[in-house]
Amino acid sequence: MVLADLGRRINNAVGNVTKSNVVDADVISNMLKEICNALLESDVNIKLVAQLREKIRKQIDAEDKPGINKKKLIQKVVFDELVKLVDCNEAELFKPKKKQTNVIMMVGLQGAGKTTTCTKLAVYYQRRGFKVGMVCGDTFRAGAFDQLKQNATKAKIPYYGSYTETDPVKVTFDGVEEFRKEKFEIIIVDTSGRHRQEEDLFEEMVQIGKAIKPNQTIMVLDASIGQSAESQSKAFKESSDFGAIIITKMDSNSKGGGALSAIAATNTPVAFIATGEHIQNFEKFSGRGFISKLLG
Ligand code: GDP
Repeated sequence: MVLADLGRRINNAVGNVTKSNVVDADVISNMLKEICNALLESDVNIKLVAQLREKIRKQIDAEDKPGINKKKLIQKVVFDELVKLVDCNEAELFKPKKKQTNVIMMVGLQGAGKTTTCTKLAVYYQRRGFKVGMVCGDTFRAGAFDQLKQNATKAKIPYYGSYTETDPVKVTFDGVEEFRKEKFEIIIVDTSGRHRQEEDLFEEMVQIGKAIKPNQTIMVLDASIGQSAESQSKAFKESSDFGAIIITKMDSNSKGGGALSAIAATNTPVAFIATGEHIQNFEKFSGRGFISKLLG
């Protein structure tokens, strides 16, 4: 189910409560059942859906006082709990500081939109007055450096990479050191998204992490990957303990529920979302904004 349909179904479920003459336990149960089915069909993890159901139910009970407008209360609780589902630890989001080196390591599977997102993030910070450089740490895929170089050149962002060095740990270390010496304030390190064996990829992330000691690691996640979002993000969480997520391809006509599951399963905030292939298709994530749009 696409995100717009998910929003419509949740709205309809809440709307049915608003339209009914009496709001009793049955009406609330029906609403919860419909919301949960819609979430499940959008690939949100079953455990999370069950938890959400209980939280909504408990919150409605807790706030249901005599004289309160129960229909309004239910609308508010559903909205607030959905926001909480996507909006964890926002206060912990990394805020780079000027006049010091902030190393940002980007991880994620090939095709997620990592290289594109590196440039978007670089431009985002450059526009805010930071001195930004990009490092290509993908020595596995032929053409990865050229792609980063092309993107960086177009966006006028200094870059570092190598056509000959095959050790990603060495390239990323050298690149970070070079930019550090030149007092760059933000160094964005792109990494590989594929390997012969998946375990090798995760091991590579561990080794690069040890070498460059990032101040922030960000996982780039494709909104359309469905159920595998949870296991994929857990595997990256173990190998590179990312502190934020960027969800890409929010413009695609796809299920977004997998992304919701990944956020909730890793308990990691979403920093930005990407909504298209172009540099400007990039925005800060807001849980309230996301859910408001979803239920638009
Ligand atoms: P990487 O393998 O993770 O580095 O992924 P790339 O940056 O090469 O992106 C893979 C493809 O996804 C490219 O064709 C990008 O143009 C496209 N892409 C990246 N971000 C978005 C997005 O937010 N929306 C859409 N529609 N396409 C995107």
